[in-house]
Amino acid sequence: MQNPQNPDITGTAINYLYICQRKLWFYRHDLEMEHTSETVDLGKHLHEESYQREKRREWDIDSLIKIDFIDKHGILHDIKSGTSMETAHIMQICYYLYLLKQKGVPNRKGVINYPRQRKTTEVELTPEREKEVEDAIAKVNEITALPTPPHAEYMKICKSCSYQELCWS
Ligand code: SF4
Repeated sequence: MQNPQNPDITGTAINYLYICQRKLWFYRHDLEMEHTSETVDLGKHLHEESYQREKRREWDIDSLIKIDFIDKHGILHDIKSGTSMETAHIMQICYYLYLLKQKGVPNRKGVINYPRQRKTTEVELTPEREKEVEDAIAKVNEITALPTPPHAEYMKICKSCSYQELCWS
């Protein structure tokens, strides 16, 4: 069993756990199709165009997480294109904070930036959130270990999901 102190799980996997467990399974089994998704193209464009004045942009930690920027107060920022998956975004940034804590960087605060909506959401890694992150790590491993992808019903987000052809054609 994987050590929750040193998980080999990307921030994207944590995000997918809260969006669609079938999507998570495909992703964890190396069926990466993000380049075909217009939503991802929009996200990449936003990452490139937003907050250009921030000097320290894109921190890659062990190829597991990518922090968009860290501001002058040491607060982590993650840039997102839409608010509809906010729970996934919150858990993703909590995971960033959790991983940094494991590495001896006890930064407890993050902000999710939604430039298109001109909205920010502040996130703090409380002990309760930490427990949620540990549960999420265990759940990601549990879903990954399934021999076949879990069943999913059609949802609104399937329309823009890069795996839609695998699921619905
Ligand atoms: S198309 Fe829908 S059901 Fe299939 S992986 Fe994507 S979100 Fe999940």
